[in-house]
Amino acid sequence: MNTTPASTIISTTLLVIGGGPGGYIAAIRAAQLGIATTLIEGEQLGGTCLNIGCIPSKALIHAAEEFEKTRHYASGSALGITVQAPSIDIAQTILWKDGIVSKLTGGVAALLKKNGVQVMQGRAIIVDGKTVEIQQQGVPDQRIVCQHLLLATGSLAVELPGMPFGGNVISSTEALSPATLPKSLVVVGGGYIGLELGIAYRKLGAEVSVVEALNQVLPAYDMELTKVVEVSLQKLGINLHLGCTVQGLNQAGDAVVIRNAQGEASELPADKVLVAVGRTPRTQGYGLETLMLDMNGRAVGIDDQCRTSMRDVWAIGDITGEPMLAHRAMAQGEMVAEIIAGKKRHFMPASIPAVCFTDPEIVVAGQTPAEAKAAGVDCLTAMFPFAANGRAMTLEATEGFVRVVARRDNHLIVGWQAVGKSVSELSAAFGQSLEMGATLEDIAGTIHAHPTLGEAVQEAAMRALGHALHI
Ligand code: FAD
Ligand code: NAD
Repeated sequence: MNTTPASTIISTTLLVIGGGPGGYIAAIRAAQLGIATTLIEGEQLGGTCLNIGCIPSKALIHAAEEFEKTRHYASGSALGITVQAPSIDIAQTILWKDGIVSKLTGGVAALLKKNGVQVMQGRAIIVDGKTVEIQQQGVPDQRIVCQHLLLATGSLAVELPGMPFGGNVISSTEALSPATLPKSLVVVGGGYIGLELGIAYRKLGAEVSVVEALNQVLPAYDMELTKVVEVSLQKLGINLHLGCTVQGLNQAGDAVVIRNAQGEASELPADKVLVAVGRTPRTQGYGLETLMLDMNGRAVGIDDQCRTSMRDVWAIGDITGEPMLAHRAMAQGEMVAEIIAGKKRHFMPASIPAVCFTDPEIVVAGQTPAEAKAAGVDCLTAMFPFAANGRAMTLEATEGFVRVVARRDNHLIVGWQAVGKSVSELSAAFGQSLEMGATLEDIAGTIHAHPTLGEAVQEAAMRALGHALHI
């Protein structure tokens, strides 16, 4: 901890450390409510999400999809489209992606300014629960005293002990800004990042292998959903090594040595190795330990108002652990600002939808059949396949399904799951139905526009009631 006396002392009501989706939303909402708010950001406003996470990854995924489409047409298609010798200039792709990031991070800066948040650039070092120092190269340290301290410092990529980041071993950050495309990419970890980026790189033309320690990809999701993605990985030509452990790089440094469940070792050639084995809350290196907060594993422990164990010290987003999702961080940030402004709020969402932007996409909200059963709920469950949906046929996207889970006694819907093309957009309907306490009859009785993928949502509800019309 830095103990040199700071030259300036600034006083504020709410001090937010971290300008990611959790921190910047909290700051904007607090300022809207008339709370004097200061936000400290050590790198770029927008945090992981806007700079090196959600947005750049979705941009790269889109570019890869478009490129793959043209390559698909180049080899002939049923649609009658022909394309000759498509190619991609990855430097231009990255420039385009960076343009979107700049537009969004500039927008965050403008919103903070418009709402009167004082933004300070620099590294925050916690002195105590009411005092923080800011370090910035070439500028004398400044000290800020506050009534409320909000921790929104996010998370960091986990390193593999035998294969630290550096050289050809990269994290998602480097994978999102490649100077050139590798011929071969080995992805360690078949979770969110490994599959979203692994699929994108495959579509951009790389040979891709995914090594996953467990026996299924995306272990956070149930197997009925992930099986559909696994079939797609096979079709895309991604080599999947399930139940395998990574031993490290070979001596030449151009292959990853893996071992399967039977103990047999093999080598996977790799120009680059993307390690995506999870993220860990950022809790070290800025004096957090001086507060001696109660922890929840590696995460800062919080209650249902995002209060930590120290009075008027709050924590939101990835620093508080799973699920590490931007929309959770934002919802927590908005809530904390409102509580500080005197409103009565608790973080008790009916669901935090989760989307995996693989090909096909997965979306879940609320309970799966297994989770409902484990919670002792007697449930009805029904699935409607996109193979029976007209819109899906016109999009050449008939793989996948929508599934609904509802209580048997009163038909209250407790969960939705879907896998298929563009199903991420169904997350709004799923979230609203759960938050508003919809029953199967509500969804079955709602006119859904034709032809849309959303009709599969209505049909799943109808099927659960025993009268689906198109199957
Ligand atoms: P962050 O966004 O990590 O922001 C924390 C900020 O705090 C950073 O800007 C950091 O510089 C700053 N900071 C830390 N310490 C200090 C300090 N001492 N002083 C000053 N500043 C400090 N989530 C989704 O919901 N959907 C997605 O599609 C999605 N895709 C992702 C793709 C990738 C490749 C990655 C890596 C993540 C993705 N996520 C996604 C997760 C999402 O990015 C995070 O859940 C979200 O950014 C968490 O927000 P946060 O505000 O808690 O932290
Ligand atoms: P993850 O937890 O999704 O996946 C990590 C995977 O690595 C797991 O399948 C795990 O079994 C595997 N693994 C762990 N150690 C391993 C080892 N030694 N060898 C092989 N496999 C190993 O983590 P991630 O993909 O790094 O993503 C981090 C977090 O970022 C996610 O939990 C999520 O919260 C967030 N994220 C969200 C989105 C989204 O919402 N679409 C996208 C990207 C990232």
